Amino acid sequence: PPAISIRDLAKTYAGIKGAPGKEALKGVSFDVPQGQIFGLLGPNGAGKSTLINILAGLVTKTGGSAEIWGFDIDTRTRNAKRSIGIVPQEIVFDPFFTPFEVLENQGGFYGIAKHLRRSEALLEAVRLADKRDAYARTLSGGMKRRLLVAKAMVHSPPILVLDEPTAGVDVELRKQLWELVSRLNDDGVTIVLTTHYLEEAEELCDRIAIINHGELIANKPTRELVDMA
Ligand code: ADP
Ligand code: ADP
Repeated sequence: PPAISIRDLAKTYAGIKGAPGKEALKGVSFDVPQGQIFGLLGPNGAGKSTLINILAGLVTKTGGSAEIWGFDIDTRTRNAKRSIGIVPQEIVFDPFFTPFEVLENQGGFYGIAKHLRRSEALLEAVRLADKRDAYARTLSGGMKRRLLVAKAMVHSPPILVLDEPTAGVDVELRKQLWELVSRLNDDGVTIVLTTHYLEEAEELCDRIAIINHGELIANKPTRELVDMA
């Protein structure tokens, strides 16, 4: 199956106290092919986080359907969720946990037996092995972002979704994150990332879908899209 398959996906956030609702997604359809780096591009407010949060099971859709690795997100939520790792926009760690503990706790959360956890290998993969036992609060912003990526990979999902991984980060860190994403993709992980930087999508992605005001306005291999512009 496609890594992700979305059909007529819709979300209207309920209005508060009788106010009209907000149509954040107005029936979006696309497939993310396995093995690709897929960019979801759009300006602020386009509906990118809403779409990611629906896939993550954090927001309930109000219409349409979505399958992750062939599992319907409604009927097979557990399998669907286990097929995907989400790197959220916000960095949230307990400041007194160490990177090693963050990954061990996440392994525990997924019910992975201690001897089957890969915390050390994951720290290697995101180049944080030397920070294994440092308090999270002492890590730089870039280190925290890389730890978030490792945390999302704890259950070895075939799909990794990153919500605006480079929003507000400096050039150096952006390069590091691009390199990390490319490396994971080389290892066979299908990547979906949202961004509002066209150059980021062009640089990294095999395919780009553009959403604006909750509607899909393009979905093409990167080269075709760039040739059009
Ligand atoms: P859901 O239907 O997913 O439960 P709600 O419509 O109940 O979502 O809204 C969840 C909360 O998010 C509400 O308390 C609402 O006030 C708040 N909220 C409103 N506008 C925004 C926004 N632009 N971004 C994030 N949160 C918002
Ligand atoms: P993006 O990630 O592309 O910036 P979002 O998915 O965060 O876009 O937001 C899409 C639209 O939905 C925006 O108009 C935003 O204000 C609105 N929105 C997002 N979350 C909520 C919420 N919880 N309640 C009400 N409106 C929301």
